[in-house]
Amino acid sequence: MSVVKVDPRHPDPAVMADAGARLRRGELVAFPTETVYGLGADALSADAVARIYAAKGRPAWNPVIAHVPHVAAARALSRDWPATAECLAQAFWPGPLTLVVPKAGHVPDVATAGLDAVALRVPDHPVALALLEAAGIPVAAPSANRFTQVSPTTAEHVVRSLGDRVPLVLDGGPCAVGIESTVVDCTGPDVVILRPGMLGRDSLATALAPLGVTVRRAVRTIAHDRDAGARSTDDTPRSPGMADRHYAPQGDVWLFAAAQRQEIASAVTAWLAGRSGPETPRVHALLMGAELPLAPRDRTAMTTVTMPDAPDRYARALYAALHEADARHAALVVIETPPDTSAWDGVRDRLTRAAR
Ligand code: AMP
Ligand code: MG
Repeated sequence: MSVVKVDPRHPDPAVMADAGARLRRGELVAFPTETVYGLGADALSADAVARIYAAKGRPAWNPVIAHVPHVAAARALSRDWPATAECLAQAFWPGPLTLVVPKAGHVPDVATAGLDAVALRVPDHPVALALLEAAGIPVAAPSANRFTQVSPTTAEHVVRSLGDRVPLVLDGGPCAVGIESTVVDCTGPDVVILRPGMLGRDSLATALAPLGVTVRRAVRTIAHDRDAGARSTDDTPRSPGMADRHYAPQGDVWLFAAAQRQEIASAVTAWLAGRSGPETPRVHALLMGAELPLAPRDRTAMTTVTMPDAPDRYARALYAALHEADARHAALVVIETPPDTSAWDGVRDRLTRAAR
């Protein structure tokens, strides 16, 4: 595997041309976007997309997002480009927003997990855009990590998770947004948020107001069933993969509210007492407020990260903090949940799923 540094201000045309040619040949290329690093492959080749699933260990029911360099390329992948999609694309692309639209016939079923809709995005990152232009094909790109693990926000995270499963990693530095895109379903009369992200409901609603279209969160009516696949009586097509443990570090994850500081400290103390062996297990804490009130002996088992108190900065720092927990082999990760306001929806979604 090779890691090639690319200056985001001046992506080297020769490097981009080589990476684009690899994608056209059906190879995998990992590359930076503003959200997280993506594991890219030719979205129109069933074989190439199958390579993504194999490298990630991703189950076939979980569809991938196709990345394109501009709105025109997105329209070409849709059988029937909705007015809501046009409106949102004009307002937010390039940017951390994925639009689910009716799929064109030439998009292979493997890319959409058999659904009749395809997820599309124009990423806001100069290296990603240069790569998409050089490749000249839509590029399917889920996060460049093994399935269920924490998404990568640096090239080093990609290498740690995928190793030789990916032949080329373009290193464009750390990702600015830090969590995955907001995914919205544009196939129905309302716009439905399938996966929250840093682009929130209020911004979407403002952009859609001239169309008189409302925005709502997806309702899950039937729990995901691993054997039968994702089913729902309501939001169809909903986001498969929405319910699963995901974005998860290796250790157990406990979430707690600021008011539960004392209880969580007692629980950590009890957990440590129940695990006395030759080696004290490591505990990793992502806190927003004061330290946990632990006895000095227990405190030595703990690494504390103080997280930013603004949603955008918190999102940018989140996955690096979870990767650090893994790097320290933390067996337990305790996380203070951020405020219960809509600005934190994307972050709270990732924390909840890490803890599942
Ligand atoms: P990622 O893991 O970041 O590549 O995002 C993929 C997620 O986008 C999936 O787990 C789904 O939740 C959503 N998604 C992708 N394609 C579709 C689709 N055709 N219909 C509904 N949701 C989709
Ligand atoms: Mg992912």
